[in-house]
Amino acid sequence: MAKDLCLFGGTFDPVHYGHLIIARAVAEAKGFSRVTLVPANNPPHKPPTRAPAADRLEMLKLAVEGDGLFEVCDLELHRQGPSYTLNTLQALRDKPAGARMHWLIGADSLAELPHWHRVEEVLDLARLLIAARPMEGRSAEDALASLAGKLPERHLRALRDAIVPTPLIDISSSDIRRRVHQGRSIRYLVPEPVARYIAERGLYRDADPPPENPGERPCPR
Ligand code: ATP
Repeated sequence: MAKDLCLFGGTFDPVHYGHLIIARAVAEAKGFSRVTLVPANNPPHKPPTRAPAADRLEMLKLAVEGDGLFEVCDLELHRQGPSYTLNTLQALRDKPAGARMHWLIGADSLAELPHWHRVEEVLDLARLLIAARPMEGRSAEDALASLAGKLPERHLRALRDAIVPTPLIDISSSDIRRRVHQGRSIRYLVPEPVARYIAERGLYRDADPPPENPGERPCPR
């Protein structure tokens, strides 16, 4: 698996230990020597990010500095329009030649999967890997079961083998933003250099705007 790609996309607004712990667990379980973190510019299924792309990128670099497992790929940050996974996979295909692409998501992201831009092509290009995430008592298998009828059976079959046993880490970027806004500690939730960067740049001091349609969020955290 040495040359296979394990790509991990997200808004990383900010990156936190949940991201890093599950990515490392997946790399160990699947034998990846490298995990590529891909920050999104304009996430199609989420509200606009709170921190500018340059800050989210810098925080990612600070978070993984000195850890040879991770690399950060800023490809999506140079693309205008929605950050579709399909475009990213097309750009990274065959780099290096013959490498198989894997795309890591948390189990909560499964709810949006049928709405991904040209999702069947995404699933043909890359193998999805699914990490468990606390979701109000629902398991990754439950989240997968609710996709029945929403994706072709051959993709659903592949997804059943895509769940990787990872620790359940109840950390989210939205909780971190809320804590910073409330003046509470984010120690042990993000790497120390990231906490320092957030404080120095005054990120997340303003409250998150309320969601336009709170009912839309499938797994509130
Ligand atoms: P927010 O709280 O703003 O929605 P987030 O914590 O989900 O953010 P993202 O950067 O949007 O962070 O997540 C990128 C990917 O990482 C998604 O597929 C998400 O499911 C996954 N992920 C994030 N945090 C965890 C976690 N604690 N456990 C498992 N997966 C996670």
